[in-house]
Amino acid sequence: MAKFIFQTKDAAELKPEYDAVIIGSGGTGISAAIQAHELGLNVVVLEKNEALGGNTNKASSGMNASESNVQYQHGIIDHNEDFYKETMKGGGLMNDPSMLRFFVDHSAAAISWLKDHDIVVNDLTITGGMSRKRCHRPANFAPIGAFLETNLLKVADKEDIPVFNNSRVTKLIQNSDKKVTGVEVETNDGVKQVNAKAVLLATGGYGAAKDIIAKYRPDLADYKTTNQAGATGDGLKLAESVNGQLVQMNLIQVHPTAQTDNSRVFLIGEAVRGEGAILVNKAGKRFVNELNTRKIVSNAITNLHEDGAYLIFDQGIRNHVKAVDFYDSVGLVEHGDSLKDLAEKIGVNAANLVDTVSTWNKEVEADHDSEFGRTTGMDRGITEGPFFAIHVHPAIHYTMGGIHINPNTEVLDTNGNVISGLYAAGEVSGGLHGNNRIGGNSIAETVIFGRQAGIKMTEFIRNK
Ligand SMILES: Cc1cc2nc3c(=O)[nH]c(=O)nc-3n(C[C@H](O)[C@H](O)[C@H](O)COP(=O)(O)OP(=O)(O)OC[C@H]3O[C@@H](n4cnc5c(N)ncnc54)[C@H](O)[C@@H]3O)c2cc1C
Repeated sequence: MAKFIFQTKDAAELKPEYDAVIIGSGGTGISAAIQAHELGLNVVVLEKNEALGGNTNKASSGMNASESNVQYQHGIIDHNEDFYKETMKGGGLMNDPSMLRFFVDHSAAAISWLKDHDIVVNDLTITGGMSRKRCHRPANFAPIGAFLETNLLKVADKEDIPVFNNSRVTKLIQNSDKKVTGVEVETNDGVKQVNAKAVLLATGGYGAAKDIIAKYRPDLADYKTTNQAGATGDGLKLAESVNGQLVQMNLIQVHPTAQTDNSRVFLIGEAVRGEGAILVNKAGKRFVNELNTRKIVSNAITNLHEDGAYLIFDQGIRNHVKAVDFYDSVGLVEHGDSLKDLAEKIGVNAANLVDTVSTWNKEVEADHDSEFGRTTGMDRGITEGPFFAIHVHPAIHYTMGGIHINPNTEVLDTNGNVISGLYAAGEVSGGLHGNNRIGGNSIAETVIFGRQAGIKMTEFIRNK
């Protein structure tokens, strides 16, 4: 079948007015556009990059939800309350409770909404800090991000939703009542003003914004990032220009397993550990519960002072994580016919590695990790050659801070009042994740709060 390519519009076709302007073409922006369009709004999506999809395209592991039909089909009985509590615990009790409550309670509906649009995520895996398989992904284990983005764009294409790329929004326009009434956008056809009854900031985070990171987290200034180059926090600056409030800006997630050896950084998805991989140090020994929260695992790797660590897995695990084929195709995966062979190739103590894996396999069989108390990602051991290793290092991955919104996705000003006509959702917003985002919660956030933004903008416009 021919590869689907979404046709963006020519800048000359941009109209001077729409009901709603949506800034950003990631999972949040496109979900919002579809939902608002289906509710009758005339929407437009403006994307600054040539390529659509932002960081959403890069997501690999999956999308979390509790009490979903998919979980029941897999025989898993889950509870929204557990998802809430575990996310709150993982976020250091710093999550905005009302945002988190809305998120959890609408997570299963997001999976069903995708299914209604023929976007089926009916396999499950697990990510760090979760007690159950909540991380939904396609049946062929394909990385969630590009799968979601492509399929959302297929829906947008069918519904004829206009998307303009190479269109950078540089200004929010306000009327004398401080209501947001449109945007200024730089296009290939010059700078244009687009008026709207509502504007959504779906511009993603600031993981690649050296200036913002240096301001709020100078200790991370030299870290590499897994983010796309356009994750420069534009939405935060736009919100600030109309007195929008930013929250928790110092909360930046460092992902434990990035491959940073070359100039292009690759995220090695949590699913590799979720499906059974372990982490070892140069001595060939495990040093942490690999599926503890990202913060704890990142700190454990940094504290080795060995320039990273190694993910170790086998063919059986590889068969359950399609992304490994991609990592291999770009040269990130070391192969060994035996564990000894693998250890020699990566410069890890071979005798210890053989010992570590043998002990680990026994613990998997007994379902008891006596050393580090790991309780998840133990469905299979590391038994079936060939064996594989990936050198990993912590890198800036996700920005938990951002624009202060309420569960209606309305942007709040520095006095806590709603800025009329301005909405924000997705990674550009702050507060949902506390001090540590759980893997799989962000893609879920794009669909849950993207949809919510579409609904709330429509309601706002209908009630005008
Ligand atoms: C490598 C990697 C792997 C990940 N894996 C997972 C995972 O498995 N599960 C999970 O839950 N999360 C994962 N995440 C996080 C998740 O992908 C993102 O947080 C989420 O996709 C953000 O979606 P978004 O729509 O808010 O922003 P984005 O997808 O980043 O989209 C924002 C868009 O807005 C555009 N934009 C910005 N400024 C402007 C402007 N001024 N004018 C016009 N357009 C603008 C950007 O160019 C971008 O295209 C991962 C992230 C990375 C980097």
